[in-house]
Amino acid sequence: MKIFDVHMHIGDKHAWTEEAFGFLMSLGHRYEERLYDEDGNQNDSELHNILIDEGVEHAILLPEYAPKTTGIHPVERVIEIAEKYPRFIPFGFINPSLHHSTQEFERQLNLGIRGLKIHPVHCEHYVNDRNLYPLYDRCMQLNMPVMMHAGTSIFTGSKMRYADPYSYDDVATDFPDLTIILAHGGRGFWYQQAEFMVKRHKNVYIDVCGLPPQNLLKLFPVLPRFPEKFLFGTDFPGVPGIRTNAEAIYGLKISLEAKELICYGNAMRVILPDRA
Ligand SMILES: [Zn+2]
Repeated sequence: MKIFDVHMHIGDKHAWTEEAFGFLMSLGHRYEERLYDEDGNQNDSELHNILIDEGVEHAILLPEYAPKTTGIHPVERVIEIAEKYPRFIPFGFINPSLHHSTQEFERQLNLGIRGLKIHPVHCEHYVNDRNLYPLYDRCMQLNMPVMMHAGTSIFTGSKMRYADPYSYDDVATDFPDLTIILAHGGRGFWYQQAEFMVKRHKNVYIDVCGLPPQNLLKLFPVLPRFPEKFLFGTDFPGVPGIRTNAEAIYGLKISLEAKELICYGNAMRVILPDRA
């Protein structure tokens, strides 16, 4: 079983808001003791050891700039870890309410990011915010994926209005060649719209992180017909176990080929086409 986790968060304990860290650990805390030192700083070599122990070949590491909801987890940390341990693929993060979007994106590009994450629900903007359009254009030219949090978030300060599925459809329609990853696949109230989007748009994918893997066929009945559009992700460190979740996907009643695509092959093709 080969694993590519497209959704791992970095963050020292104290960089998370108390609420966010408490919630993540309520989803699974098996890594907590290993991952943080006495002062709550994340231990990078242990983070890497966890990947090895869990059999993860590659993983996307995500920064976040959402001071009102989850905290600030700087891109520099992501880059530092990925430079030490090339199993990690560093993504950037733009919050248009905080950053000068194009300048900050260029800065993060120079640091070495390989993709972009945005979080409308934590950062109070729509994904079709016109300030982001130049970034989408740039990502499209660079063949760089854009991951968008797609669905609810329970953290204080999150605003559901910004999860409006039609704003995501706008971007997919306006940038048909842009690779878009819908993180959480519309969790909460728009699984159906997310599923429609992966059927309709050739470059839209669903990252199943944060969803109970054993329920995937209920949430996305179309999955057996479009297994090439689903990506395995965990929302680490808030996960019962990376391998445990991948095993749950291997327990689904779908073809072996579909399981391999979801847990590994699709991400290789979409995220690391040069190495696929
Ligand atoms: Zn996440």
